[in-house]
Amino acid sequence: MSTKNIGWNFDNSYLQLPEIMATKYSPVPVKEPKVIIFNHTLAKTLGLDFSSLTEEEKAKLFSGNSIPDNTQTFAQSYAGHQFGHFTMLGDGRAIVLGEHISPEQKRFDIQFKGSGRTPFSRSGDGRAALGPMLREYIISEAMHHLGIPTTRSLAVVATGEDVIRETSLPGAILTRVAASHIRVGTFEFVAAQKDINALQALIKYSIRRHYPELAEATNPALTLFRAVRNRQLDLIVHYMRVGFIHGVLNTDNVAISGESIDYGPCAFMDHYDPKTKFSSIDHAGRYAYGNQPLIAKWNLARFAETLIPLVDIDLNKAVEILEAEVNQCSEIYKKKSLEMMRKKLGMEGTIEEDNSLITKLLQWMNKSQADYTNTFKDLTNGTLSHSMYQDLDFQNWNDLYQKRKPNREIMKQHNPQVIPRNHKVEEALLAATNHDLQPLHSLLKALEKPYQETHEMKNYQDPAPASNEPYQTFCGT
Ligand code: AMP
Ligand code: MG
Repeated sequence: MSTKNIGWNFDNSYLQLPEIMATKYSPVPVKEPKVIIFNHTLAKTLGLDFSSLTEEEKAKLFSGNSIPDNTQTFAQSYAGHQFGHFTMLGDGRAIVLGEHISPEQKRFDIQFKGSGRTPFSRSGDGRAALGPMLREYIISEAMHHLGIPTTRSLAVVATGEDVIRETSLPGAILTRVAASHIRVGTFEFVAAQKDINALQALIKYSIRRHYPELAEATNPALTLFRAVRNRQLDLIVHYMRVGFIHGVLNTDNVAISGESIDYGPCAFMDHYDPKTKFSSIDHAGRYAYGNQPLIAKWNLARFAETLIPLVDIDLNKAVEILEAEVNQCSEIYKKKSLEMMRKKLGMEGTIEEDNSLITKLLQWMNKSQADYTNTFKDLTNGTLSHSMYQDLDFQNWNDLYQKRKPNREIMKQHNPQVIPRNHKVEEALLAATNHDLQPLHSLLKALEKPYQETHEMKNYQDPAPASNEPYQTFCGT
């Protein structure tokens, strides 16, 4: 397909890496593609204009049925620890269309998810169902508007083919836009090959692509580790701030760029409980809300292991250095987390008692089954009329808290007024799979400005009726 007028500016720098890193491969064409949703705002940000295309041409493009000129599509090699177990993986249902360079000279992977079998598919069909792809669209866009580094969604196209899961479901392809798809699992793949040259090349490439300011580092492996650690812990702090539970923080879902990636069984917490988990397959709560900081450290330890041979020629020394770096995760997280909670509570400066004030509020919320988002929203807005706040423990806490003179302007910037509530997401997905896209569009509109009170968000702020619980999510693979 001609790329005229659209503004595509493709590069394929990833294919300059050693051959083991990727397999040139094409999406498997689908029967009858149809655009379900398209992200015009994101297209504009990318410097792309699809207005010259007919709906049919757009559907062909975003299903991979027709590939733009000047790019080479490929599937990436990677491995990963899934629920603690090491596995060789790779893009089993995804194809990178290319790296688009925006007018601002930013590089984005454009990737199709659900685009058919690849050499990495194992027993999978390479496909995806419409519901889970729209779910990724909703949540990734919500995360973006919440100010959290994330991959984004450019389009969802129905394939006109069914996919067989527990039942037969309509198939779909998501176009994902990411800073890159390099993950901890990519490093684990290279480490498992024991290919030092490839490891060196991947480190250099990752630094150039995501941390160019570190290009001159004397110890690139160690420097990269610290940089990734910083961004990953920042990301987890964001998750904790907005009550987000990723649900499947396997090392293949931990991006080196620091973006949040892969929205499968994720969901937002309603009432505050660190043990909250929604994923039907996370039996032990490995990826529960309150476990995410520990899991981030665990994942970073797996990342550190891959870097050992390049941190020091004395391998024992390399292990010692990296162990110390990994162990710092807890302290760094604690500091970042405290800073974040102070902002949620509008506390300026630092006072010894802040930590205990924060802990007491969370304990009260846990005990009272208080909604996480709405408690902070009510504190921010000064709307504490709900009978729940008549509780003596809360009032005692609030007396102490008010003495801290909270700054509401700070609170407004860190406490969302709206999140994608589970029941609202389900409602929109159900309607969309029954060909009614209105609820999906209304939900997306409601999530666009989460830090301002907008008219559009009014019907999206309440938690689900208690009878709706327990809520469960599924991987959708
Ligand atoms: P995810 O859970 O989406 O992070 O996927 C984990 C791994 O399983 C990746 O290597 C995917 O490419 C692969 N995978 C997931 N679903 C499918 C599928 N339907 N067909 C083939 N591979 C899949
Ligand atoms: Mg994944």
